[in-house]
Amino acid sequence: MTLCPRALLLDMDGVLYHGERVLPHAPAFLRAVAHLPHVFVTNNPIATPAEVAARLARMGLGAPAPEQILTSGLATARYLARQRPGFRYFAVGAPGLDAVLSRYGTADAERADYVVVGEGPGLDYQSLTRGIGLILEQGARLISTNPDSTVDAWRDGRRLALPGGGALVAPFEVATGQRALTIGKPEPLLYRMALDLLGFEARQCLMIGDRVDTDIAGAAALGLQTALVRSGRFGPGEPWPAGAPRADWDVPDLAALYRAWRAKWPDCFDAADGLNG
Ligand SMILES: [Mg+2]
Repeated sequence: MTLCPRALLLDMDGVLYHGERVLPHAPAFLRAVAHLPHVFVTNNPIATPAEVAARLARMGLGAPAPEQILTSGLATARYLARQRPGFRYFAVGAPGLDAVLSRYGTADAERADYVVVGEGPGLDYQSLTRGIGLILEQGARLISTNPDSTVDAWRDGRRLALPGGGALVAPFEVATGQRALTIGKPEPLLYRMALDLLGFEARQCLMIGDRVDTDIAGAAALGLQTALVRSGRFGPGEPWPAGAPRADWDVPDLAALYRAWRAKWPDCFDAADGLNG
């Protein structure tokens, strides 16, 4: 039995936008749920929270504070700081990953405690060789910001697959025999940090995402309510993956989700009208 959610976790790509294209209903949906505490959670470690917040504002998707954005890069930095205050790291990924790690630790390619692998440019023969050496010769721990095999990019309205964090960390795992510790969805660490930010119990929170394997599976495992919007990775009518937990809501888009909520809990939301946008 689901309760009217008290707080929301929102995935972004495939839920609110495709690349630079804002999805229909997304701005109106965010206005309609603005009174509910919410955080934006993403497995993408390429941009910093401040950059993500600025991007959402520029796209007309509210005016979130950077503190409302939890990227897998930031979650990784906070986790490592808890494990080892003042940690040293060797980052393999986009500049945004180094930017968040450097707020909590120190880049050190000679004596790193952690080899942190994330999405985006960064992996090449030199960085792979350096990371392998740190792990095998100096006992560094291998960390993966997120386990996605591929991630979606959108070009001219068409989806194309880019290598995800799971694909990029794989060469390090193969070479060293060490399995990476993964921070992002569906692993629990990023979700637990998001719940801490919101200050609610898992069952009081609803995760809205477009991927079953990360968004829905990870949130369901922790007892969050879940909603799959079929506006990203899954299209309408695509079969549910075998063995994956069902979502509490399985809807075409955010407008349909909002209509379903209003029908089930008429008193749950402030907005008097449905979505017009
Ligand atoms: Mg997504």
